Amino acid sequence: MKEAKGASPAMAQWFAIKAEHEDALLFFRMGDFYELFFADAQAASAALDIALTARGQHQGQPIPMCGVPVSQAEMYLARLIRRGFRVAIVEQLEDPAAAKARGAKGPLKRGVVRLVTPGTLTEEALLEAGRANFCLAITAHEGKLGLAWADISTGQFETEQTALDGLAAILGRLDPSEILASAEIPLGTYTARRVDTQRMALSLPANAEGARRDLAQRFGAASLEAFGDFSGAEVFAACFMLAYIEATQMGTLPRLSRPTSAGLAGQLAMDAATRASLELASARDGMEAGSLLGAVKRTVSPAGARKLASWITAPLCTLSPLQDRQQAWMALCESGQAEAVRDALRGTPDMARALGRIALGRASPRDLAAIRGGLQAGSALAPLLPAGAKLLDEAATALTPAPALLVTLQNALAEPAPLRLDEGNAIAPDFDAELDAERALRDDTRQVIAAFQTELTQRYGIASLKIRHHAQLGYVLEAPATAVEGLRAYPELQLRQGMANGSRFTHPELSDLDRRITEAAARTSARERLVFSWLVKQVLEIAEQLAACADALALVDVLQNAAHLSLSGRYCSPELSDDEAFSITAGRHPVVEAALPPGTGFIPNGGELSPSQRLMLLTGPNMAGKSTFLRQNALLVVLAQAGLPVPAENMQLGLVDRLFSRVGAADDLASGRSTFMVEMTETAAILHQAGPKSFVIVDEIGRGTGTRDGLAIAQAVLESLHNQNRCRAIFATHFHELVQLTETLPRLKAYTMRVKEFRGEVVFMHEVVQGAAQKSWGVHVARLAGVPEAVLRRADALLKAAERQQNAAAPLPLFAAVAPPAHAPEHEALLDDLAVLDPDTLSPREALAQLYRLREQV
Ligand code: ADP
Repeated sequence: MKEAKGASPAMAQWFAIKAEHEDALLFFRMGDFYELFFADAQAASAALDIALTARGQHQGQPIPMCGVPVSQAEMYLARLIRRGFRVAIVEQLEDPAAAKARGAKGPLKRGVVRLVTPGTLTEEALLEAGRANFCLAITAHEGKLGLAWADISTGQFETEQTALDGLAAILGRLDPSEILASAEIPLGTYTARRVDTQRMALSLPANAEGARRDLAQRFGAASLEAFGDFSGAEVFAACFMLAYIEATQMGTLPRLSRPTSAGLAGQLAMDAATRASLELASARDGMEAGSLLGAVKRTVSPAGARKLASWITAPLCTLSPLQDRQQAWMALCESGQAEAVRDALRGTPDMARALGRIALGRASPRDLAAIRGGLQAGSALAPLLPAGAKLLDEAATALTPAPALLVTLQNALAEPAPLRLDEGNAIAPDFDAELDAERALRDDTRQVIAAFQTELTQRYGIASLKIRHHAQLGYVLEAPATAVEGLRAYPELQLRQGMANGSRFTHPELSDLDRRITEAAARTSARERLVFSWLVKQVLEIAEQLAACADALALVDVLQNAAHLSLSGRYCSPELSDDEAFSITAGRHPVVEAALPPGTGFIPNGGELSPSQRLMLLTGPNMAGKSTFLRQNALLVVLAQAGLPVPAENMQLGLVDRLFSRVGAADDLASGRSTFMVEMTETAAILHQAGPKSFVIVDEIGRGTGTRDGLAIAQAVLESLHNQNRCRAIFATHFHELVQLTETLPRLKAYTMRVKEFRGEVVFMHEVVQGAAQKSWGVHVARLAGVPEAVLRRADALLKAAERQQNAAAPLPLFAAVAPPAHAPEHEALLDDLAVLDPDTLSPREALAQLYRLREQV
């Protein structure tokens, strides 16, 4: 940080503010520009690709500077925020003209009016329309972590408590833009989003009781119990969150809904690895395309898209709310109104986010127009909704909260409403008589000018005289060069400025007019602001009902999304129950299906994991479609438990409490763990947590280590899933030996991917059938991948030789514990010892010693 010593008065002001906001770029308001200085200027000019210049000197050095016009600040802010900067907006806190009139010396008063940070955005230009933008606060309290998150653009505010090992899953679900957490709380891949709040002097309650009181008070309740059950850790986190928001908004608290404790109860549990593996709301590259959400999204409004994402990333595991969802979209299908509902929703403005800005005192005419548009859509929608389904009935009531306000906004607001209030004409004519009168006066004086110009041309006999407005001189009379001499003769005309092709005169009547016009314009915009703020007040008075209306619009959009999928005839409504059923007929992977080239049909596959055969062992060559099938089943569970239709002919599902997916783990190189270590950590999580109501998909367990190790681990895991966890599971493996386990594990069934051999060519049918794979077809896949023919021939020869050898030898003793032992149990230790001996590395002497040792054991 630069030394402030010797700074000019304006720069001294800059230094003082910068000292309080060291981690933010200062957007320092100077007239029509926000200017940045020193290191801020260097960082911003590089990030924004704008010119770096210099202004004045500091301690003998030029001061690096860059600036952005106030009118375009949003666009530049958006770019800076996306690059991870925080920005403090420093405004002039007094009117330059007023300061001058007062005879004030030195720079204008300035102060920070807002901190713009990734987690506290409200502007449309800075937000992604279809994605919630969460700021998350984490506090540690009595061995637990309290979490509170808010999306201040919509007012959503929730809390939750978790143990440390549950944190990663929640981070994965919320994908917060900004995280308030002390350095001891590990954030894994989210570390870069941590905010250092230590120097912000946030005022936090001293104890849990104080936190409860604070929180209840803020939301106008006598006690927090009114909102539900919150742990101490949760209330601390909620207060932390509120204090931070207040600090970034410089004391104004946005409209936040009452906190609700999300709790894990009622939700399908998925750990971070499972979420990443299933690519629910974003694909591996972070984009929505290629994710489950991308494949089933048919919403037509941004708020609907956000709600759909929240359903898919947080599926439920209790029957009744899911049945409510199903009942609602099925009623929509049956009513024949789904298409009309979809049309009525199209183009619905983002009412929730507009409301967020209005509550923060940042209302623009467009925001009020969004409320008007939302209310209009609501009243158009309500009569279209069929009665009788709980969610639709609730929505219908919430959709028409304020008919009177709608009429007011329709009459009051111009259509289309201007972007900014200072552009004028935000209020429609005929709404406010006083405003109309001021406008008439303003426009009238314009007409008076035109008339006066005609009069002057006649009075002075010069047709080309023009009355123009000039920034410094006000209204002037412009005369061509040829007429100047003649005009000088009139005493009322005063020559003020000569130009190349004429001159400018002032005239006392013109000055008088000038004053009247300026006053009328000022009065007009003052009146317009007054009417506007009255409208804002009307909106804020029923903010809660409007928020509920916005939420109902989003809900109806998600329900029509579901109805739309269902009406396509390719999605069915799953039958949900509380038992352990699992049966799918002709299921499809929605993302893979969508990505297949046109004309190549996706082959549907079913599966049956009833209690008597709850474990499916799937073998088959690479590229045959194993992982697609595995993921497809997990995705169908997610969709079903989001309350949505599923891409299948039929599905029966006993609700899953925990879902685990261990398919194609990406190397976790960033954290320095090997693939095998990652694989085993995830496997450990499954073995510890999966129960009879859980559903597990695992692919290629044991692939990351040697064949013997790998096979042994795969077998042990499979046995544990069968005997201890007793969960429903699909287990894909390239260890074909494991198929023999179906003889000893009664609830394990073997399936394989069908492969056809046709005139030496191998065709993968992508079809799941009962039985075991005959071969690996590895050489075939290598050929598909373009491995040179000579290498393939050599590999083929080696394979044949190995097969001959294996057929000659006894089968590998890999299933000692399962296949009836051919030897007495007491000899097992001996066999184990023998198995680990590596004769090639032993000296003759060591070999002899080992032989003696082994004989002693017999
Ligand atoms: P494996 O896990 O057995 O190596 P994948 O599941 O990765 O195989 O599938 C390989 C490719 O086969 C996929 O990318 C997809 O294009 C295609 N595929 C998989 N399943 C099907 C199916 N049911 N119908 C059509 N194509 C499929």
